This record gives sequence, structure tokens and C-alpha cells, in this order.
Amino acid sequence: MDREAKRALAFGTHPDDIEIGCGGTVALLAQRGFDITHVILTSGEAGSDRIPPGETGPLREREAREAAKVLGAAGVEFLRYPDGLTGFTREMKIDIIRIMRRLRPHILFVHERNESSLGHRVTSQLVLESVQAGAGPWFQEAGGRPWSPEVILGYEVWHPLGRYELAVDISATLETKLRALACHRSQTAAVRYDEALRGLARWRGVMSLSGGDAEVFEVIKASQHSFRCFAQQE
Ligand SMILES: [Zn+2]
Repeated sequence: MDREAKRALAFGTHPDDIEIGCGGTVALLAQRGFDITHVILTSGEAGSDRIPPGETGPLREREAREAAKVLGAAGVEFLRYPDGLTGFTREMKIDIIRIMRRLRPHILFVHERNESSLGHRVTSQLVLESVQAGAGPWFQEAGGRPWSPEVILGYEVWHPLGRYELAVDISATLETKLRALACHRSQTAAVRYDEALRGLARWRGVMSLSGGDAEVFEVIKASQHSFRCFAQQE
């Protein structure tokens, strides 16, 4: 990754996915000077059986903004597609290409390709198709100049990845990740995600031999020297 490369973009289907899947790594990159934007496709309005959907969406957007701030991300954008994605349209693809060409990220995070959740899988496919289309002269209606991220990493949410190519030591940012997760009060009130994530990070750390706590990724795209920014610093 060249020395000027300092922009990262993370896509999540629901307001808490980015914190769960790659929050520790996002916090690490923020500490290293990366400009990071979160893009959330649905506001997760179906994600509560206690709060009416009309209130859940705005509440979860507030939680997502708060969590992004804890991680050190510079901004959050909401696409407000209806919760419960089962597919995508050409217009949605143009939305993503437009974002990609505007923000021009060097590192891109998205759900790993074989996620067990259909909504997560749809986001992964939509984003990856849009990356491909946005890299060339096609889709002029999206505006902007062609762009392709140097690194694309798939993160795990609903089940652990069976295979992964990259483990990032997040020992220094695990507590930040958990503080960001705790901002999602509408979700953590019902499920102890903090316990699950602390356990997963430790398991990933031990089994990847990083020794501490880790997040692991499916490497969807990479180039030579891509991973210098993840190396442990002196
Ligand atoms: Zn989700």
C-alpha cells in the first residue's frame, strides 16, 4: 500500500455489522491516520420486537453514529434500503458505484461472500459487483471517474469463517471495539454480543498464532505490499 493511501470504506447491512465484523481493525486504521467512512445499507428497522419499526430505524442510526465515533471513523452514511434485503436492483448498484467513485477508498470492508445471513450475502454481492462495474468506464450515469480499491476484505458476523487469509491483531483496540458495540443498546439489551465477540477475538488470536486478540478476514482482493498498514508497529 503506498504511503499516501489513507482512506478506508466499510459497508454493513445493518447498523451494528461493521462493529461486530471489523470494529477492531477499523479502530486500528483510524489510529494510524486513515480516513474511514461507514456506509450502512438498511437502518435495521426490523431489529427489535419491543420498539415500533418507525422508531427503531432512527434509533439505530443514532447508535451507529455514536459507535462510529468511538472507533474513530470520520463519517457514517445511511442508504435506508428496506430491512430484510433479498436482492438488489440496478439503481442500488449505481448508488454504490457513486459512493465508491466519490470516496475512492484504498481499503474496503464488506461481509464475507458466504455469510449465512441472506441480507449480509446480498450486500456482499451488491458491493463486489459494483466495485467491478465502477472500476471501468461503464455506468456513466453514476458519475465520477473509475476507481478500484487496492484491498477488499470480507468480515465475519453471523458465523465464523471456515477459511481466512488474514488475521489482524486487535489486542490494542479490542476494548474500543467492545465500547463501540455497547453503543448499540437496542441490540445488546437482548443478546450478549460482547461475550461472543470477546471469546471469538481470543479464539482467533490463539488459533492464528498472533497470540493476542484478532479479527480474521477473507481476502477478496489484494496487491503486493497491501498489508503493511496492518503490521504491528514498533
Ligand atoms: Zn447484520
